[in-house]
Amino acid sequence: MSRPLIFAANWKMNVAPAEARAFATRFLDGFRPGPGRSCWFFPSAVSVEAAAAAFGTHSWLAIGVQDVHWEPKGAFTGATSVALAAAAGATVALVGHSERRHVFGETEADTARKVGAALAGGLVPLLCVGETLAEREAGQTEAVVLRQLGAALAGLGPAALARVIVAYEPVWAIGTGKNATPADAARVHRAVRGALVAAGHPEPRVLYGGSVNQGNAAALLAEPELDGVLVGGASLDPAGWRSIVEGA
Ligand code: PEP
Repeated sequence: MSRPLIFAANWKMNVAPAEARAFATRFLDGFRPGPGRSCWFFPSAVSVEAAAAAFGTHSWLAIGVQDVHWEPKGAFTGATSVALAAAAGATVALVGHSERRHVFGETEADTARKVGAALAGGLVPLLCVGETLAEREAGQTEAVVLRQLGAALAGLGPAALARVIVAYEPVWAIGTGKNATPADAARVHRAVRGALVAAGHPEPRVLYGGSVNQGNAAALLAEPELDGVLVGGASLDPAGWRSIVEGA
């Protein structure tokens, strides 16, 4: 059997509830996931419930939320708690996406609190880490990624750590059409996997994200260090996304 792969679709601030329903209808028509392949969808919070209902229950499927707040409830206008996301049908949460860090100013301490909240509330955190172009050009890629990882996972016990999945997403590759080469990505994935193993993670899974599309997914996933992909723009078209999930 081929190795397990996770194909995660980050729909960002796109796809209204009716569009999520239409996407699911088109995507599911004749869809046969390969053995060991999982497909995760991260709709906007307002479309999580519609997506969960439209996709239904499948062993290969998870619906996630793009961000969570660390507090369980209260006066946090615009934020989504873990419990609210779970009640809408989410079982997974993106945490520390580069747009949260660099557009919304989320700190490493915030990200750590969100990882803890997701785990405490029963959601699987998909923790995103990645360096900026300036950091890459300064030769700091591994240092930055490992610092982000350490900050986000500090204090987690072994059982909690075992549930964390990581996505390496170089900031300079997200939405830019530039992507790391399979060898570049593999080098960072090895460092991330090594740090996770050293911290006691029994079976780290590390996805790659950053301008993955129909033209480059197969080459990236031919690199055994990649346990899947996290995809923004190229996940918005049902036929194109399906060809990535089925084809790579
Ligand atoms: C992302 O949103 O995590 C992402 C990788 O976006 P894109 O595939 O559009 O670069």
